[in-house]
Amino acid sequence: MTNTQADQTTAPPSGEPLTLTTEIPPTVARLRAAFASGRTKPVSWRRAQLGALRRMLTEETAVLERALQADLGKSPVEAHTTEIGFVVNEIDHTLRHLASWLRPQKVSVPMALAPAKARRVREPLGTVLIVAPWNYPVNLSLAPLVGAIAAGNAALVKPSELAPATSAALADLVPRYLDTEAVAVVEGGVPESTALLEERFDHIFYTGNGAVARIVMSAAAKHLTPVTLELGGKSPVIVEPGVDLATTARRLAWGKFTNAGQTCVAPDYVLAVGDTAEPLQRELSAAITEMFGADPSQSADYGRIVNERHFARLTALLESGTVVTGGQHDADQRYLAPTVLADVDPDSPVMAEEIFGPILPVLRVPDLDAAIAFVNERDKPLALYGFTDSEETKRRLTTETSSGGLAFGLPMAHLAVPDLPFGGVGESGMGAYHSAASVETFSHTKSVLDKSLFMDTMRVAYAPITDMKEKLLRRLL
Ligand code: NAD
Repeated sequence: MTNTQADQTTAPPSGEPLTLTTEIPPTVARLRAAFASGRTKPVSWRRAQLGALRRMLTEETAVLERALQADLGKSPVEAHTTEIGFVVNEIDHTLRHLASWLRPQKVSVPMALAPAKARRVREPLGTVLIVAPWNYPVNLSLAPLVGAIAAGNAALVKPSELAPATSAALADLVPRYLDTEAVAVVEGGVPESTALLEERFDHIFYTGNGAVARIVMSAAAKHLTPVTLELGGKSPVIVEPGVDLATTARRLAWGKFTNAGQTCVAPDYVLAVGDTAEPLQRELSAAITEMFGADPSQSADYGRIVNERHFARLTALLESGTVVTGGQHDADQRYLAPTVLADVDPDSPVMAEEIFGPILPVLRVPDLDAAIAFVNERDKPLALYGFTDSEETKRRLTTETSSGGLAFGLPMAHLAVPDLPFGGVGESGMGAYHSAASVETFSHTKSVLDKSLFMDTMRVAYAPITDMKEKLLRRLL
């Protein structure tokens, strides 16, 4: 990135306060009043806001691309496929299906209550808080917002302070396109998030790490606010003998090194079954060179580590094994080459926590039983990936392991299937979103029973209960 590019972003000069914490209570009050007025409920309002958000993404693509370049060294193509275009697709899919997702669903009524009608009706929750992380700062701020708006809520988005250019761009653009009475962006870090969590919301949608998730959940408990927690963890890959290792390696390299490995569903480590480790490592080295050249620091398609703290954390992890390929790093550029590590001990630091960077350890396991046991002994992952030609292995991985998502033959891309809910389980999170699942997350499903007052068929249930009534009741219920 050139200095000129950095200057063109909308990031405020460092040190300048982003949003004053004193501005938070009136902002939340404004959103709550907008929701209470009924303004966000009509489907016409929801469609108009989604259309406006879509326009923002297409008209302001260059601004957002520059911000993503400044924050993460993200190339414009990657910014499109994983962030801006991703949200546009989410909006289009939502606009296409919203009517059917919102349609009340009739359910049958037991004989004892007939004649009557019953249905499930979706209603918005109210005012929702969306707290986003830095790694896909457009996608993870705006994709939940699509769901919140589609379900008819007012919404406040708090982007991550660790992607300051993108946070500033969103704070500038969103009010220029969307209804400022009902949608707001609040910038800031811990003090602002803490002030936000003191407010009453009707739902909190948090994406980030498990430690902060616990803070969010305890703050939510004070108001009995429901939460969705989109977290991370170590997403394992199991590679079985006999698979096409060249294709496997290319797909793993794509999934791992996109956004320099800073992806919640990136393959975290590989369990190479039987004798696959060495040939797979060779193919991974070849795939990395094919994708990023002999010197990936020169590749326009390869990103940078978000900040010095993460850079130092990641370079220390290189000690956990033998570097098969990569390992080069440059603190000034926050550059860490796509790296494959061999001879990794399961108890080494690289295996202790989510790597969240471009280091791929390859561990050997004797067989599938050992691989499944390895996965099941650890926290439930956000994603599990299997590379196998065996339907029996697919069946076993589906039934014998638990993870937020499971994909065979391709990492990461299950997120791009709009009708697959995206979320974790256990330590990788609770709740899910994307498309219909987003509308479900940001709605309450109200149970409605409608019994006519014409003909009082309920008399049988009223006291005094005669022998005849008792017989009937016992038969009916
Ligand atoms: P982060 O540091 O940007 O934090 C996320 C958000 O939490 C930010 O908006 C931040 O301001 C806020 N925050 C930080 N401290 C807080 C506090 N004390 N109180 C309230 N809010 C606070 O991002 P991160 O947590 O480093 O994100 C990386 C993690 O997120 C990884 O574990 C990754 O796997 C996970 N992640 C999950 C998904 C998903 O969709 N499941 C997506 C992306 C990232």
